[in-house]
Amino acid sequence: MKRRVHDLAVMGGAPAFDEHLHVGRPNIGDRSRFLERMNNILDRRWLTNQGVYVNEFENRVAEFLGVRHCIAMCNGTVGLEIAIRALGLTGEVILPSFTFVATAHALQWQEITPVFCDIEPDGHCIDPLRVEEMITPRTSGIIGVHLWGAPCRIEELSEIARRRNLKLLFDASHAFGCSHLGKMIGSFGDCEVFSFHATKCVNTFEGGAVVTDDDGLAAKIRLMKNFGFQGYDNVIYIGTNGKMDEASAAMGLTSLESMGDFIAANKRNFEEYERELAKTPGVRLLPYDRDESRNFQYMVVEIDEERAGLNRDELLFVLHAERVLARRYFYPGCHRMEPYRSYFPHAGLLLPITEKVCRRVLSLPTGQAVGTEQVVIIADIIRVALSHAAEVRSRLSANTCHTEKV
Ligand SMILES: *Cc1c(COP(=O)(O)O)cnc(C)c1O
Repeated sequence: MKRRVHDLAVMGGAPAFDEHLHVGRPNIGDRSRFLERMNNILDRRWLTNQGVYVNEFENRVAEFLGVRHCIAMCNGTVGLEIAIRALGLTGEVILPSFTFVATAHALQWQEITPVFCDIEPDGHCIDPLRVEEMITPRTSGIIGVHLWGAPCRIEELSEIARRRNLKLLFDASHAFGCSHLGKMIGSFGDCEVFSFHATKCVNTFEGGAVVTDDDGLAAKIRLMKNFGFQGYDNVIYIGTNGKMDEASAAMGLTSLESMGDFIAANKRNFEEYERELAKTPGVRLLPYDRDESRNFQYMVVEIDEERAGLNRDELLFVLHAERVLARRYFYPGCHRMEPYRSYFPHAGLLLPITEKVCRRVLSLPTGQAVGTEQVVIIADIIRVALSHAAEVRSRLSANTCHTEKV
């Protein structure tokens, strides 16, 4: 049965799905392996503090990434905070505004000023040309974010950092299992930080890791994540509690074993979306490098209102009515969130690409919990809505429901 405009839920039809489809519904690995590990943890009565599974998880991650050190953390944000502190960042640090707010908060939390830099229109990562313009005598470092798992301009950023004597850290929260020039993301810059939050490709419920080839930095980070303890009662440094617990590591090990399946499901969905949406006017899929490893964890499209006929928020409303809970990651940009909005009310003037991309991006459901039959339906909803854009728009504006509410 062919979907027509009047079948759309916003036009009065029944929603396409009985249950909500989410972005970032967690991938679950082999349940029996996980439960077996949980039993082992209870049998050992060793629940946290560098237990067997945390050690194993760190070793497996380091080996997989080809990096000397992996320090597991309770979450990615604390990983960023500790990495920032261990690198000795102060004053100002340059980062993109187009990222999850934790990247900026990790700086501001320790009273380092985040200086928001614009991104490149194609890949959505920080633009090295703009970075150079934002450096001041107070700048101590750069944080690049490998957004959607696609690497930043690593060579250009490394060159700037070297020449201007700045530290270079990467927020690699999205990029576990992704490569750059055939080398896994994880060993670039001074260090890289992963998140293993439930919504990420590989998850530990909550969790993260700092990875680095720098022995001295790794030692410092290990101390900092355990209150600065060196041995039983010798504190040699100010630290915090950034430890990963054994249950998280058990999930992480199980998740790592199934990573191939997670990525295969994401890739299958990505290719289905690509097939279905490639020729839809006004819908742009982000390009990706087919020679590199990608985890396809984020299914991001850009909606160009002029060509599509509907803007991103209208399309979002159409999808939500069908119970497709697409998201506007990372709208509206950190610079439009508090406290940054009040601190830097004019930041947007230097962020034209960020502002434009923020109005266009839409993250669509993917992952293990989404099947290709569902992808076909989601794509069909988008095509039908856009090919009857005028009708849909007039219905939306007639409705009392306001698109800003989504
Ligand atoms: C998820 C995420 C984080 C934060 O990680 P948590 O593990 O949730 O603390 C940081 N930066 C980016 C870009 C993220 O997507």
